[in-house]
Amino acid sequence: MDNQELKGRVSLVTGASRGLGKAIAIRLASLGSKVAINYVARDEEAAAVAKEIESKGGEAIVIKANVADADAVKPMIRQITDKCGRIDILVNNAGIVKDSLLLRMPDEAWDDVINTNLRGAYLCTKFAMRSMMENSWGRIINISSLAGLLGNAGQANYSAAKGGLIAFTKAVAREAGARNITSNVICPGFITTDMTDKLPQEAKSMILSRIALKRFGTPQDVAELVAFLASERAGYITGQVICIDGGVV
Ligand code: NAP
Repeated sequence: MDNQELKGRVSLVTGASRGLGKAIAIRLASLGSKVAINYVARDEEAAAVAKEIESKGGEAIVIKANVADADAVKPMIRQITDKCGRIDILVNNAGIVKDSLLLRMPDEAWDDVINTNLRGAYLCTKFAMRSMMENSWGRIINISSLAGLLGNAGQANYSAAKGGLIAFTKAVAREAGARNITSNVICPGFITTDMTDKLPQEAKSMILSRIALKRFGTPQDVAELVAFLASERAGYITGQVICIDGGVV
C-alpha cells in the first residue's frame, strides 16, 4: 500500500476527467488526499475517475465547471470547502489547444485558449487561495508546457497562455510565500493523451527523435512529480519551473 503522506489534505485537480489530470487525481488520492475532480463536458469519464479512486479506498467528489467562467469557479470552490472543509492543494491542469498559424488564427481560437489555460488558472487560484491562507499551508501546482518556454509554431495562443502561466506562478509564489504556500509550475514535453493523439505520425516521429530517453512521457510520469510537489517534502521549493520531458536536448 502507498504511504498516506497526504492524509487529511484536500486537493482540487482541474481537468481531471482524462489524461494528465486523471492520473494526478488518482495519484493524490492514493496518498490519502480527498480529491475534487473538475471537468467541463465529459460526465461519464469524470464519474469513472471518482469510481476508480473510491474502489481503491480513496475519497473523491466530482464537479462540472468551466474554469474560464468566474460564475462557475466561485460555486465550485464553495462546494469543496463546504463538503471537505478546506482546499490545501490546487493543481491547475485544465487546458485546451486550438492550433493555427498566426496569420490564419481566428480571434476565437486565441480567446478560448487564453481563457481556459490562463484565466482558468487565475480564477481557480484566486478563489482557492483564501482557504490555504486561513490554514497557513498550501500547494499551487500549475501545468504549463515546454511550449510556454520555447514557443511552438502553430501554437501562438497556447504558447502565450503557457508562458503567462509561468510568470503567474512566480508572482503567486512571491505573494503567498509568507503564508507557507508554495507555487510551482511544471512544463511537460510530449505526454501520451487525447491532446497529443491527434498529431500526425510525422510530427510525432520528429518530436521523438529529439527526446533523449527515446520514449514519450506518460500521465503517471507527471503525476509522480505533482505528488512530490504537493508533499511536505517539497516545502522549501517555490517559484520554480520544472520540466518533465524525457530530455529534450
Ligand atoms: P486532455 O487529455 O485533452 O484533457 C483535458 C482536460 O481538461 C479534460 O479533463 C477536460 O475536461 C478538461 N477541460 C478542458 N477545458 C476545460 C474547462 N474550460 N474547464 C474545466 N476543465 C476543462 O489534455 P492533457 O493532455 O491531459 O493535458 C492536461 C494539461 O497538460 C493541459 O493544460 C495541457 O496543456 C498540459 N500539457 C499536456 C501535454 C501533453 O503532451 N499531453 C504537454 C504539455 C502540457 P472534459 O473531459 O470534460 O472535456
